[in-house]
Amino acid sequence: MKSSELKSFAAEAGADLVGIASIERFEGRPDNEHPSSIFPECASVIVLGRRILRGALRGVEEGTSFGSTYGAFGHRYLEDNFISKSTYDITCWLEERNAEAVPLFGYSSDVDMAYGLPVAPDKPAPNVVVDIEFAAQQAGLGNMGKGGFFLTPKFGPRQRFAMILTDVELAQDDILNLDFCADCEDCLTGCPLNAFTDGERDKTICSKCANGAVDTFGRGGMKDRLAAACARACVVSLEKRNKLDNKFNKPFRKRKPWGLDAYNRPIA
Ligand code: SF4
Ligand code: SF4
Repeated sequence: MKSSELKSFAAEAGADLVGIASIERFEGRPDNEHPSSIFPECASVIVLGRRILRGALRGVEEGTSFGSTYGAFGHRYLEDNFISKSTYDITCWLEERNAEAVPLFGYSSDVDMAYGLPVAPDKPAPNVVVDIEFAAQQAGLGNMGKGGFFLTPKFGPRQRFAMILTDVELAQDDILNLDFCADCEDCLTGCPLNAFTDGERDKTICSKCANGAVDTFGRGGMKDRLAAACARACVVSLEKRNKLDNKFNKPFRKRKPWGLDAYNRPIA
């Protein structure tokens, strides 16, 4: 099977991004994060992404609609319906070609998904979580930015990922090294709660953030930050610097951004 055929079907199935990493690129990963712990015959890891519509960020950017715009179309529906459907369809496509393929939700290994005890002495405890951001980087889709979100050349921080483990040996993609964060700190300065100190993010501050960060359910309790002030500052920054392939006629930021302090009071 050719990677190009798979990618062509992935695009038909709605994937905006697709990259492939061979299993060798996971060498050295711990057992509880290794694709082979889930599927020992895995030869290739396919990572697919779908965009967070820029329009799904509009209500958050204006501070007037969170749940029915971003919460639905940028977060829950995107994860639970749109990218899940693409992942399912591509997995079907592989199975129809007699390949074994294992669809996986895109968790970060930062989340705590521990559930149960090892079923054998040589197996890690469930649930093994293959870090989606590590996998996406190995699949050549982009890399982590200073703000702590994954960046791609097409959408910056605006996408969500899922993956498929398969026993098919597919040609892998080259690893990308984006320079988006060189000479940029816009996500750090765009945080109303000053969560960053010396480039390190204090996650306890983010856990209480009401500046567009949202609680997640069934995601290990990690806050979703892709519509938060920091991520929107990144969208603005990358657009201004003309870094992204996904272009628009008008800039995303049209007004001074709002912000809430640690007591959820508007910052003047
Ligand atoms: S705002 Fe700048 S420094 Fe922060 S993640 Fe985006 S590109 Fe990197
Ligand atoms: S999630 Fe909130 S507190 Fe954390 S860095 Fe982003 S804007 Fe700041």
